[in-house]
Amino acid sequence: MSMAYTEISKQIPSDVTLVAVSKTKPVEQIMKVYEQGQRHFGENKVQELVDKYDQMPKDIKWHLIGHLQTNKVKYVAPFVHLIHAVDSLKLLKEINKQAKKNNRVIDCLLQFHIADEESKFGMNFDEVKELLESREFVEMENVSIVGVMGMATFTEDENQVQQEFQNLEGYFQILKSHYFKFNEHFKEISMGMSGDYQLAIENGSTMVRIGSAIFGERSYPQ
Ligand SMILES: *Cc1c(COP(=O)(O)O)cnc(C)c1O
Repeated sequence: MSMAYTEISKQIPSDVTLVAVSKTKPVEQIMKVYEQGQRHFGENKVQELVDKYDQMPKDIKWHLIGHLQTNKVKYVAPFVHLIHAVDSLKLLKEINKQAKKNNRVIDCLLQFHIADEESKFGMNFDEVKELLESREFVEMENVSIVGVMGMATFTEDENQVQQEFQNLEGYFQILKSHYFKFNEHFKEISMGMSGDYQLAIENGSTMVRIGSAIFGERSYPQ
């Protein structure tokens, strides 16, 4: 396990952030990776994220990578480092509201639907455009959109996965030039998991979310 972490972290270029996805894994196992210097960890469930935040060192940067329900934003708002899966204006409004209550600005990524699977969350380009052009968004002061996120199709077909990564990178570039030209915070492309992170990095990823390759297979699917 610790071996895998060292091997993987060596392969990640220094300008790409490695988010160690620790979902379903116990604190003791996560601490072993922490002790090797890892500080960015990702979880996909709010309750589990809050529990681990409470139990673990406070210099950890916690990423919420999974779908977030509006009524749960308040639990993570005090401490979350980055919310990866913003997929509606309604959710962003709630994040803004809870961030304000906590007197902070919360960094967020806009999740694009890039896979050809029904089950995955995310917006299409028109929905993102509508969100960014809405008056409500323009008036928000407690969220900062720092980039985009996507999940490729779960398939053996590398060409398809590569195409989906390239699509996300293309969306990022369009958004950058149309809406965030003078905003140096808008720079992240969160894509790539255990099975495809190298391909993701080759195609412009700035942030990879790696779980099973570091911590071992999860005993139940998430
Ligand atoms: C679980 C998860 C990952 C990590 O998946 P692995 O295949 O174990 O690396 C990455 N991103 C999201 C959104 C996840 O839910």
